[in-house]
Amino acid sequence: MSIAPAPPAIPPGATIGILGGGQLGRMAALAAAALGYRCHIFCPDEHSPAFAVAAAHTIADYADGAALDAFAAVVDVITLEFENIPVEALERLARHRPVRPGADVLRVTQDRLLEKTFVRDHGAGTAPFCAVSGPADLAAAAALGPRAVLKTRRFGYDGKGQHMLALPEGSDAETIAAALHAAWEGLGGGDCLLEGFIDFTCEISVIVARGLDGAVQSYVPVENRHAGHILRTTLVPAFLPAPLLAEAEAIARRLAEGLGLVGLMAVEMFVTREGRILVNELAPRCHNSGHWTIEACLVSQFQQQVRAVCGLPLALPGRHSDAVMENLIGDAVAHWPALLAEPGASLHLYGKSAARPGRKMGHVTRLYPLGQRP
Ligand code: AMP
Repeated sequence: MSIAPAPPAIPPGATIGILGGGQLGRMAALAAAALGYRCHIFCPDEHSPAFAVAAAHTIADYADGAALDAFAAVVDVITLEFENIPVEALERLARHRPVRPGADVLRVTQDRLLEKTFVRDHGAGTAPFCAVSGPADLAAAAALGPRAVLKTRRFGYDGKGQHMLALPEGSDAETIAAALHAAWEGLGGGDCLLEGFIDFTCEISVIVARGLDGAVQSYVPVENRHAGHILRTTLVPAFLPAPLLAEAEAIARRLAEGLGLVGLMAVEMFVTREGRILVNELAPRCHNSGHWTIEACLVSQFQQQVRAVCGLPLALPGRHSDAVMENLIGDAVAHWPALLAEPGASLHLYGKSAARPGRKMGHVTRLYPLGQRP
Protein backbone atom coordinates (compact mmCIF):
# COMPACT_ATOMS: atom_id res chain seq x y z
CA MET A 1 0.00 0.00 0.00
CA SER A 2 1.45 3.36 -0.94
CA ILE A 3 1.11 6.31 1.39
CA ALA A 4 0.32 9.64 -0.21
CA PRO A 5 3.14 12.11 0.40
CA ALA A 6 2.28 14.93 2.77
CA PRO A 7 1.77 18.27 1.00
CA PRO A 8 4.92 20.38 1.27
CA ALA A 9 5.21 22.79 4.16
CA ILE A 10 4.81 26.47 3.42
CA PRO A 11 8.22 27.75 4.48
CA PRO A 12 9.16 30.89 6.41
CA GLY A 13 9.38 33.82 4.01
CA ALA A 14 5.99 32.95 2.50
CA THR A 15 2.88 35.09 2.96
CA ILE A 16 -0.01 33.99 5.16
CA GLY A 17 -3.38 35.51 4.26
CA ILE A 18 -5.58 36.14 7.29
CA LEU A 19 -9.32 36.73 6.97
CA GLY A 20 -10.39 39.15 9.69
CA GLY A 21 -8.43 42.06 11.11
CA GLY A 22 -9.17 42.19 14.83
CA GLN A 23 -6.85 41.71 17.77
CA LEU A 24 -6.65 37.96 17.12
CA GLY A 25 -5.32 38.63 13.62
CA ARG A 26 -2.97 41.24 15.04
CA MET A 27 -1.44 38.80 17.53
CA ALA A 28 -1.35 36.04 14.91
CA ALA A 29 0.53 38.36 12.53
CA LEU A 30 3.05 39.18 15.25
CA ALA A 31 3.59 35.46 15.92
CA ALA A 32 3.93 34.79 12.19
CA ALA A 33 6.53 37.52 11.89
CA ALA A 34 8.55 35.90 14.68
CA LEU A 35 8.82 32.80 12.46
CA GLY A 36 9.80 34.82 9.39
CA TYR A 37 6.40 34.90 7.62
CA ARG A 38 4.67 37.90 6.10
CA CYS A 39 0.95 38.41 6.69
CA HIS A 40 -1.66 39.94 4.43
CA ILE A 41 -4.90 40.80 6.25
CA PHE A 42 -8.27 40.84 4.47
CA CYS A 43 -10.96 42.75 6.36
CA PRO A 44 -13.84 45.06 5.42
CA ASP A 45 -13.14 47.43 8.35
CA GLU A 46 -10.70 50.18 7.42
CA HIS A 47 -9.71 50.60 11.09
CA SER A 48 -8.68 46.98 11.66
CA PRO A 49 -6.14 46.59 14.51
CA ALA A 50 -4.21 43.93 12.56
CA PHE A 51 -3.36 46.23 9.66
CA ALA A 52 -0.73 48.11 11.70
CA VAL A 53 1.43 45.00 12.20
CA ALA A 54 0.98 43.22 8.86
CA ALA A 55 3.02 43.48 5.66
CA ALA A 56 -0.08 44.17 3.57
CA HIS A 57 -3.83 44.49 3.82
CA THR A 58 -6.94 44.52 1.69
CA ILE A 59 -10.04 46.46 2.69
CA ALA A 60 -12.96 44.76 0.99
CA ASP A 61 -16.16 42.91 1.67
CA TYR A 62 -16.06 39.11 2.06
CA ALA A 63 -18.55 38.94 -0.82
CA ASP A 64 -16.25 40.85 -3.19
CA GLY A 65 -15.14 38.08 -5.55
CA ALA A 66 -12.58 40.16 -7.45
CA ALA A 67 -10.96 41.30 -4.19
CA LEU A 68 -10.86 37.71 -2.90
CA ASP A 69 -9.21 36.51 -6.13
CA ALA A 70 -6.62 39.29 -5.99
CA PHE A 71 -5.90 38.47 -2.33
CA ALA A 72 -5.49 34.76 -3.08
CA ALA A 73 -3.06 35.60 -5.89
CA VAL A 74 -0.58 37.28 -3.52
CA VAL A 75 -0.64 34.88 -0.55
CA ASP A 76 0.58 31.28 -0.13
CA VAL A 77 -1.94 29.95 2.38
CA ILE A 78 -5.09 31.38 3.94
CA THR A 79 -6.39 31.18 7.49
CA LEU A 80 -8.87 33.19 9.55
CA GLU A 81 -9.30 34.92 12.87
CA PHE A 82 -13.08 35.40 12.60
CA GLU A 83 -15.42 32.47 12.08
CA ASN A 84 -18.33 34.22 10.42
CA ILE A 85 -16.63 34.49 7.04
CA PRO A 86 -19.17 33.41 4.38
CA VAL A 87 -18.53 29.82 3.32
CA GLU A 88 -18.81 30.92 -0.33
CA ALA A 89 -15.77 33.17 0.18
CA LEU A 90 -13.76 30.27 1.60
CA GLU A 91 -14.79 28.02 -1.29
CA ARG A 92 -13.77 30.66 -3.82
CA LEU A 93 -10.40 31.19 -2.13
CA ALA A 94 -9.80 27.43 -1.95
CA ARG A 95 -9.80 27.27 -5.77
CA HIS A 96 -6.53 29.21 -5.66
CA ARG A 97 -4.80 28.45 -2.35
CA PRO A 98 -5.04 26.12 0.66
CA VAL A 99 -7.58 27.50 3.15
CA ARG A 100 -7.02 26.18 6.68
CA PRO A 101 -9.40 25.60 8.38
CA GLY A 102 -11.58 25.11 5.31
CA ALA A 103 -15.19 25.62 4.31
CA ASP A 104 -16.24 22.17 5.60
CA VAL A 105 -15.20 23.10 9.14
CA LEU A 106 -16.81 26.54 9.02
CA ARG A 107 -20.06 25.17 7.62
CA VAL A 108 -20.46 23.17 10.84
CA THR A 109 -19.24 25.72 13.37
CA GLN A 110 -21.19 28.65 11.89
CA ASP A 111 -24.50 26.95 12.58
CA ARG A 112 -25.33 26.15 16.19
CA LEU A 113 -27.66 23.30 15.21
CA LEU A 114 -25.11 21.58 12.95
CA GLU A 115 -22.41 22.25 15.56
CA LYS A 116 -24.34 20.76 18.51
CA THR A 117 -25.43 17.80 16.37
CA PHE A 118 -21.80 17.22 15.32
CA VAL A 119 -20.64 17.35 18.96
CA ARG A 120 -23.33 14.91 20.07
CA ASP A 121 -22.56 12.55 17.17
CA HIS A 122 -18.93 12.51 18.30
CA GLY A 123 -19.79 11.25 21.73
CA ALA A 124 -19.56 14.50 23.70
CA GLY A 125 -22.33 15.90 25.87
CA THR A 126 -24.24 19.10 25.09
CA ALA A 127 -27.18 20.90 26.67
CA PRO A 128 -30.44 19.32 25.50
CA PHE A 129 -31.42 21.16 22.33
CA CYS A 130 -33.98 21.37 19.55
CA ALA A 131 -34.42 23.44 16.42
CA VAL A 132 -36.96 26.28 16.41
CA SER A 133 -37.68 27.51 12.91
CA GLY A 134 -41.33 28.48 13.24
CA PRO A 135 -44.42 28.48 15.47
CA ALA A 136 -44.97 24.78 14.69
CA ASP A 137 -41.80 23.91 16.65
CA LEU A 138 -42.79 25.76 19.81
CA ALA A 139 -44.90 23.07 21.46
CA ALA A 140 -42.10 20.48 21.25
CA ALA A 141 -39.51 23.08 22.29
CA ALA A 142 -41.52 23.93 25.42
CA ALA A 143 -40.69 20.42 26.66
CA LEU A 144 -37.14 21.64 27.42
CA GLY A 145 -38.67 23.44 30.40
CA PRO A 146 -39.18 26.92 31.81
CA ARG A 147 -35.46 27.75 31.92
CA ALA A 148 -33.90 27.67 28.49
CA VAL A 149 -31.78 29.71 26.12
CA LEU A 150 -33.02 30.57 22.64
CA LYS A 151 -30.18 31.32 20.23
CA THR A 152 -30.10 32.27 16.58
CA ARG A 153 -28.51 29.41 14.63
CA ARG A 154 -26.06 31.74 12.90
CA PHE A 155 -24.00 34.87 13.58
CA GLY A 156 -24.20 34.85 17.36
CA TYR A 157 -21.25 35.89 19.54
CA ASP A 158 -20.66 37.34 23.01
CA GLY A 159 -24.30 36.65 23.92
CA LYS A 160 -25.68 38.47 20.86
CA GLY A 161 -28.60 36.74 19.17
CA GLN A 162 -29.65 35.10 22.44
CA HIS A 163 -32.63 35.21 24.76
CA MET A 164 -32.63 33.67 28.22
CA LEU A 165 -36.02 32.26 29.16
CA ALA A 166 -36.45 32.20 32.96
CA LEU A 167 -40.03 31.34 33.82
CA PRO A 168 -41.00 30.02 37.27
CA GLU A 169 -40.57 26.28 37.89
CA GLY A 170 -43.84 24.49 37.23
CA SER A 171 -44.93 26.83 34.40
CA ASP A 172 -47.27 24.96 32.07
CA ALA A 173 -46.36 24.07 28.48
CA GLU A 174 -48.72 26.68 27.04
CA THR A 175 -47.12 29.50 29.06
CA ILE A 176 -43.63 28.34 28.06
CA ALA A 177 -44.61 28.09 24.38
CA ALA A 178 -46.09 31.62 24.48
CA ALA A 179 -42.94 33.07 26.06
CA LEU A 180 -40.83 31.21 23.51
CA HIS A 181 -42.92 32.57 20.69
CA ALA A 182 -42.32 36.14 21.91
CA ALA A 183 -38.58 35.46 22.34
CA TRP A 184 -38.35 33.87 18.89
CA GLU A 185 -40.04 36.91 17.32
CA GLY A 186 -37.72 39.17 19.34
CA LEU A 187 -34.73 37.44 17.73
CA GLY A 188 -36.14 38.14 14.28
CA GLY A 189 -38.21 34.99 13.77
CA GLY A 190 -35.56 33.08 11.84
CA ASP A 191 -33.83 29.74 12.33
CA CYS A 192 -33.07 29.30 16.03
CA LEU A 193 -31.90 26.68 18.46
CA LEU A 194 -33.39 26.22 21.91
CA GLU A 195 -31.13 24.84 24.62
CA GLY A 196 -32.05 23.67 28.08
CA PHE A 197 -30.54 25.95 30.75
CA ILE A 198 -27.40 24.44 32.28
CA ASP A 199 -26.80 25.23 35.91
CA PHE A 200 -23.02 25.02 35.56
CA THR A 201 -20.37 25.41 38.27
CA CYS A 202 -17.87 26.86 35.84
CA GLU A 203 -17.12 27.47 32.19
CA ILE A 204 -13.91 26.07 30.77
CA SER A 205 -12.20 25.94 27.41
CA VAL A 206 -9.50 23.94 25.69
CA ILE A 207 -7.38 25.26 22.82
CA VAL A 208 -6.52 22.42 20.48
CA ALA A 209 -4.41 22.43 17.32
CA ARG A 210 -4.31 19.86 14.55
CA GLY A 211 -1.52 19.84 12.01
CA LEU A 212 -1.49 18.95 8.34
CA ASP A 213 -0.01 15.57 9.28
CA GLY A 214 -2.92 14.86 11.65
CA ALA A 215 -0.90 15.46 14.83
CA VAL A 216 -3.00 16.96 17.62
CA GLN A 217 -1.84 19.07 20.58
CA SER A 218 -3.97 20.69 23.25
CA TYR A 219 -3.28 23.25 25.96
CA VAL A 220 -4.43 22.67 29.53
CA PRO A 221 -8.14 23.39 30.23
CA VAL A 222 -8.71 26.87 31.65
CA GLU A 223 -11.59 28.45 33.54
CA ASN A 224 -13.35 31.42 31.96
CA ARG A 225 -15.37 33.97 33.88
CA HIS A 226 -17.76 36.21 31.94
CA ALA A 227 -19.61 39.39 32.78
CA GLY A 228 -22.39 40.59 30.52
CA HIS A 229 -21.60 37.66 28.18
CA ILE A 230 -18.08 38.99 27.59
CA LEU A 231 -15.00 37.12 28.78
CA ARG A 232 -13.42 38.98 31.69
CA THR A 233 -10.92 36.58 33.20
CA THR A 234 -9.19 33.33 32.26
CA LEU A 235 -7.67 31.28 35.09
CA VAL A 236 -4.94 28.80 34.18
CA PRO A 237 -5.31 25.95 34.88
CA ALA A 238 -8.97 25.35 35.73
CA PHE A 239 -9.11 23.95 39.28
CA LEU A 240 -10.86 20.69 38.47
CA PRO A 241 -10.14 17.05 39.36
CA ALA A 242 -7.51 15.50 37.07
CA PRO A 243 -9.98 13.09 35.38
CA LEU A 244 -12.22 16.00 34.35
CA LEU A 245 -9.24 17.94 32.99
CA ALA A 246 -8.22 14.87 31.00
CA GLU A 247 -11.76 14.37 29.73
CA ALA A 248 -12.01 18.00 28.57
CA GLU A 249 -8.79 17.67 26.59
CA ALA A 250 -9.86 14.33 25.16
CA ILE A 251 -13.16 15.83 23.96
CA ALA A 252 -11.39 18.76 22.30
CA ARG A 253 -8.93 16.47 20.55
CA ARG A 254 -11.69 14.13 19.37
CA LEU A 255 -13.71 17.03 17.95
CA ALA A 256 -10.66 18.47 16.14
CA GLU A 257 -10.06 15.07 14.57
CA GLY A 258 -13.74 14.60 13.73
CA LEU A 259 -13.82 17.94 11.94
CA GLY A 260 -10.64 17.16 10.03
CA LEU A 261 -9.41 20.50 11.34
CA VAL A 262 -6.15 21.93 10.11
CA GLY A 263 -5.50 24.89 12.35
CA LEU A 264 -6.49 25.82 15.87
CA MET A 265 -9.79 25.65 17.68
CA ALA A 266 -11.23 26.68 21.04
CA VAL A 267 -13.75 24.30 22.56
CA GLU A 268 -15.92 26.04 25.16
CA MET A 269 -17.56 23.81 27.74
CA PHE A 270 -19.69 23.88 30.86
CA VAL A 271 -18.91 21.82 33.96
CA THR A 272 -22.20 20.89 35.62
CA ARG A 273 -22.88 20.50 39.34
CA GLU A 274 -22.90 16.73 38.77
CA GLY A 275 -19.38 16.92 37.31
CA ARG A 276 -20.36 16.41 33.68
CA ILE A 277 -18.68 18.23 30.82
CA LEU A 278 -21.02 19.66 28.18
CA VAL A 279 -19.69 21.34 25.04
CA ASN A 280 -21.21 24.76 24.43
CA GLU A 281 -19.40 26.12 21.40
CA LEU A 282 -16.57 25.55 18.93
CA ALA A 283 -14.48 28.44 17.60
CA PRO A 284 -12.09 27.25 14.84
CA ARG A 285 -9.52 29.99 15.39
CA CYS A 286 -7.31 31.61 18.01
CA HIS A 287 -9.36 32.50 21.04
CA ASN A 288 -9.47 35.08 23.81
CA SER A 289 -9.21 32.28 26.39
CA GLY A 290 -5.82 31.33 24.90
CA HIS A 291 -4.04 34.68 25.27
CA TRP A 292 -2.26 33.45 28.42
CA THR A 293 -0.22 31.07 26.22
CA ILE A 294 1.85 34.04 24.98
CA GLU A 295 3.61 34.36 28.34
CA ALA A 296 3.01 31.03 30.08
CA CYS A 297 4.05 28.62 27.29
CA LEU A 298 7.10 28.29 25.07
CA VAL A 299 4.85 28.48 22.02
CA SER A 300 1.67 30.58 22.02
CA GLN A 301 -1.68 29.65 20.49
CA PHE A 302 -0.89 32.15 17.73
CA GLN A 303 2.37 30.51 16.73
CA GLN A 304 0.71 27.11 17.05
CA GLN A 305 -1.90 28.22 14.52
CA VAL A 306 0.83 29.42 12.16
CA ARG A 307 2.59 26.07 12.51
CA ALA A 308 -0.63 24.17 11.80
CA VAL A 309 -1.70 26.15 8.75
CA CYS A 310 1.79 26.20 7.24
CA GLY A 311 2.23 22.44 7.61
CA LEU A 312 5.03 22.76 10.17
CA PRO A 313 5.41 20.44 13.16
CA LEU A 314 3.18 21.45 16.07
CA ALA A 315 4.92 22.55 19.26
CA LEU A 316 4.49 20.84 22.60
CA PRO A 317 1.85 22.91 24.41
CA GLY A 318 3.23 22.54 27.94
CA ARG A 319 3.28 25.57 30.21
CA HIS A 320 6.04 26.73 32.51
CA SER A 321 3.77 28.88 34.70
CA ASP A 322 0.21 29.20 35.87
CA ALA A 323 -1.52 32.39 34.77
CA VAL A 324 -4.46 34.72 35.11
CA MET A 325 -5.47 36.73 32.05
CA GLU A 326 -7.73 39.73 32.45
CA ASN A 327 -9.36 41.51 29.54
CA LEU A 328 -9.26 45.30 29.44
CA ILE A 329 -12.75 46.16 28.31
CA GLY A 330 -13.90 49.69 27.46
CA ASP A 331 -12.61 52.30 29.92
CA ALA A 332 -10.54 49.71 31.84
CA VAL A 333 -7.82 50.35 29.29
CA ALA A 334 -7.24 53.73 30.99
CA HIS A 335 -5.38 51.80 33.72
CA TRP A 336 -2.52 51.05 31.32
CA PRO A 337 0.04 53.24 33.12
CA ALA A 338 -0.53 51.42 36.42
CA LEU A 339 -0.45 48.03 34.67
CA LEU A 340 2.83 48.93 32.96
CA ALA A 341 4.26 49.83 36.36
CA GLU A 342 3.09 46.60 38.00
CA PRO A 343 5.94 44.13 38.38
CA GLY A 344 5.22 40.86 36.61
CA ALA A 345 2.17 42.06 34.68
CA SER A 346 2.37 41.65 30.89
CA LEU A 347 0.30 44.26 29.13
CA HIS A 348 -1.07 43.96 25.59
CA LEU A 349 -2.85 46.84 23.90
CA TYR A 350 -4.66 46.35 20.59
CA GLY A 351 -4.20 49.85 19.20
CA LYS A 352 -7.93 50.61 19.01
CA SER A 353 -8.77 54.30 19.20
CA ALA A 354 -12.23 54.51 20.80
CA ALA A 355 -12.77 52.72 24.15
CA ARG A 356 -16.47 51.98 23.66
CA PRO A 357 -18.30 50.05 26.41
CA GLY A 358 -17.92 46.29 25.88
CA ARG A 359 -15.03 46.71 23.43
CA LYS A 360 -11.94 44.59 24.03
CA MET A 361 -9.08 47.11 24.13
CA GLY A 362 -6.27 44.96 25.50
CA HIS A 363 -5.46 42.36 28.11
CA VAL A 364 -3.03 41.76 30.93
CA THR A 365 -1.50 38.43 31.94
CA ARG A 366 0.00 37.69 35.35
CA LEU A 367 2.14 34.59 35.83
CA TYR A 368 2.45 32.39 38.93
CA PRO A 369 4.73 29.46 39.71
CA LEU A 370 3.09 26.15 38.74
CA GLY A 371 0.52 25.19 41.36
CA GLN A 372 0.39 28.66 42.90
CA ARG A 373 -2.18 30.64 40.98
CA PRO A 374 -4.79 32.35 43.17
P1 AMP B 1 -22.68 31.37 23.65
O1 AMP B 1 -23.02 32.53 22.78
O2 AMP B 1 -23.36 30.09 23.27
O3 AMP B 1 -21.20 31.22 23.81
O4 AMP B 1 -23.22 31.74 25.10
C1 AMP B 1 -22.73 32.86 25.81
C2 AMP B 1 -22.84 32.61 27.30
O5 AMP B 1 -24.22 32.41 27.67
C3 AMP B 1 -22.12 31.35 27.77
O6 AMP B 1 -20.75 31.61 28.00
C4 AMP B 1 -22.88 31.03 29.03
O7 AMP B 1 -22.43 31.85 30.10
C5 AMP B 1 -24.32 31.42 28.69
N1 AMP B 1 -25.04 30.26 28.17
C6 AMP B 1 -25.12 29.88 26.88
N2 AMP B 1 -25.86 28.75 26.73
C7 AMP B 1 -26.28 28.39 27.96
C8 AMP B 1 -27.06 27.32 28.48
N3 AMP B 1 -27.58 26.38 27.69
N4 AMP B 1 -27.27 27.28 29.83
C9 AMP B 1 -26.75 28.22 30.64
N5 AMP B 1 -26.01 29.26 30.21
C10 AMP B 1 -25.75 29.36 28.89
